[in-house]
Amino acid sequence: MTARVIDGTAVARRVREDVARGVEKLLAEGGTAPGLATVLIGEDPASEVYVRNKRRLCVAAGMADHHRHLPGDVDQATVAALLDELAADPAVSGILLQLPTPEHLDSEALIARIPAEKDVDGLTTANAGLLAQGRPGLRPCTPAGVMTLLEEYDVALSGAEAVVVGRSVLVGKPMAQLLLAQNATVTIAHSRTRDLAEVCRRADVLVVAAGIPGLVGADAVKPGATVIDVGIHRGEDGLHGDVEYDAVAEVAGAITPVPGGVGPMTIAMLLANTLTAATVQQGRAS
Ligand code: ADP
Repeated sequence: MTARVIDGTAVARRVREDVARGVEKLLAEGGTAPGLATVLIGEDPASEVYVRNKRRLCVAAGMADHHRHLPGDVDQATVAALLDELAADPAVSGILLQLPTPEHLDSEALIARIPAEKDVDGLTTANAGLLAQGRPGLRPCTPAGVMTLLEEYDVALSGAEAVVVGRSVLVGKPMAQLLLAQNATVTIAHSRTRDLAEVCRRADVLVVAAGIPGLVGADAVKPGATVIDVGIHRGEDGLHGDVEYDAVAEVAGAITPVPGGVGPMTIAMLLANTLTAATVQQGRAS
């Protein structure tokens, strides 16, 4: 079998177009433009690229860019004060603290200062709790993007066996919760899982977010399964995921490439979350 390739670039473009239309509608109804505050600390080149792309696409969707760049040696109190200022600013609908922050800062304490309704990364304890309880809230962007891909490609989830490889706060845990909310039978595999390949072979839907290049090979994939690769690794010959793409594409029914799969969806969902946050803050239904 040769898998259907899930085109994240195309789906992300559609999501961004929907967001841009949503912004226009909000303005036409007398609302104000959503604003995204990106907070970048230090000079990490990869983080600078990510933040630049987020800001560019935010502006392209008609939203206001409230970027703040702080020096790498900034102290905790200064960052906290900035986050409090953004939290109180009505023009700022969403606050994104770019991670990882420098070692000397307590990033958990910083994230805790972001009001749940402006937490467009879905990382606060409040939003994690709302997700766990199946209540409305802002969802982490990467797993939300995976759900949108599964929906766009009509992947059946109710009653399906879903296996999530990885249990991080950013991806694995919320991913499992979102799949559960769609009535999948969810298994979470992690670094202590015995016989990972056997566990993965159960999956109708396999989401891999372990941060280990090539962790999942064809022996770990049930024929016809949908395989979602969240990993991104920069090698000398380009970007690779956690999945051995060429071999797995021979077995799977559908697969996300790296790049061009999950990656582009993350920023698209950030924009969608920012629009949702603005809509709710302005007292309009979302
Ligand atoms: P991400 O940012 O994609 O969420 P992290 O690097 O923060 O990824 O987390 C890696 C996750 O992958 C952890 O939750 C860990 O339990 C899981 N993991 C690490 N090694 C393995 C492994 N060999 N098999 C399955 N899961 C693993």
